Amino acid sequence: MAEETAPKVTMEKIVSLCRRRGFVFPSSEIYGGLSSCWDYGPLGVEMKRNLKDAWWKDMVQTRDDMVGLDTSILMHPQVWVASGHLKSFSDPMVECKSCQRRYKADDLTKPECPTCGGEISEPRQFNMMFKTFMGPVEDASATVYLRPETAQGMFVNFPNVLGSTRKRLPFGIAQVGKSFRNEITTGNFIFRDREFEQMEIEYFVKPGTQDKWFEYWINERILWYQKLGMRKEHLKFRQHEKKELAHYALGCFDINFLFPMGWAELEGIASRGDYDLTQHANASGRNLQYVDEETKEHYLPYVVEPSAGVDRGVLAFLCDAYDEDIADGETRVILRLHPRLAPVKVAVLPLSKKEPLANLARSIYNDLRVSWVAQYDETQSIGRRYRRQDEIGTPFCVTVDFQSLEDQQVTVRERDSMQQIRIPIGEVKGTLAAKLAL
Ligand code: ATP
Repeated sequence: MAEETAPKVTMEKIVSLCRRRGFVFPSSEIYGGLSSCWDYGPLGVEMKRNLKDAWWKDMVQTRDDMVGLDTSILMHPQVWVASGHLKSFSDPMVECKSCQRRYKADDLTKPECPTCGGEISEPRQFNMMFKTFMGPVEDASATVYLRPETAQGMFVNFPNVLGSTRKRLPFGIAQVGKSFRNEITTGNFIFRDREFEQMEIEYFVKPGTQDKWFEYWINERILWYQKLGMRKEHLKFRQHEKKELAHYALGCFDINFLFPMGWAELEGIASRGDYDLTQHANASGRNLQYVDEETKEHYLPYVVEPSAGVDRGVLAFLCDAYDEDIADGETRVILRLHPRLAPVKVAVLPLSKKEPLANLARSIYNDLRVSWVAQYDETQSIGRRYRRQDEIGTPFCVTVDFQSLEDQQVTVRERDSMQQIRIPIGEVKGTLAAKLAL
């Protein structure tokens, strides 16, 4: 069974690789770090951007039924009253120490987690939203919140998008951006942060068709992870039971990944009915209804929400891609990242630092870097340099040797198979373009 699958890599190995090679550093490290906040280093920022770009391209730019949005992190405080975040976050809450589910203290009849039986924390008055003040006066009327999800920005802009794009149902609004939660249980590296990024879709559908679209999005999102190379055996799916659902939710489905600490949520897909639009229509007094041109009906659309974490995605793809094998009698650490996610696509490695070889290698490098993130590495043995690139997941290395000066050919080495082909310099770009265009 999938539960028994052992994760291949430990969190220590991932944390150490991330730090050593510049993927992720603790925030404000010279001051001792800041709990559950992380900084993405030179390679991490490329990989994180690649993940967001892949999502944006596949979910927004190449679809007719989706538009994007980038809404502000600070929103009108009434948003959080209407969405229920202010109220549900200010009750006395307890948290399960093992599965991290939170419950209103009043709802529990036994001092154990109703879902997994785990130990329950002491009740706490808690509001997971970070507060700050807008303007010069620090009083209650000036309180604003850092958004705990990007979703509300899309709900409150529903009439703006409708009016400016003339989209017809079904269609979705998508957004990538920072969210903030004052989590009480943190840890596991970038899995659960207090500042993190989300990639969320609110997909608006005609009431009555929500089940079909719920299923569609579950399937679509699972396939997306697999398309980017995530192994099937590292993915598991969990439908929430009725008792776990928020009162308004029609259904909820988690895509779980086998992280080093065990199975945990990577993305949640929820069928939310018309709860959010109803709440905002009531609280704002605005008419948020959709007018169906065919039937002339006026109604609030239902919503299916696929909500993914960027940082969790980066961690999952790193863990999934991590591998060790033996090359030339030595252990080789290798990140088998999909080329779309790999932070560096190609490295140019001259066999000598001297001219005229260096000049030729530099000109190849300058030509390639226009199209892809590339590295130029001329230090240490060629074997060492291959290992360095394997460890950060670079799909291709181009080696320039003395023979290259004579025959204008170079060696292209592929990361996973370590296979090498020799091709004319003039064909390098075309060959890489074909291999990288996945
Ligand atoms: P969890 O139960 O793990 O706290 P959640 O169910 O509260 O997550 P959602 O509110 O459904 O999460 O948010 C959607 C996605 O946003 C999650 O699947 C996850 O990928 C990401 N996410 C949520 N909270 C965090 C966090 N504190 N740090 C990093 N990513 C997060």
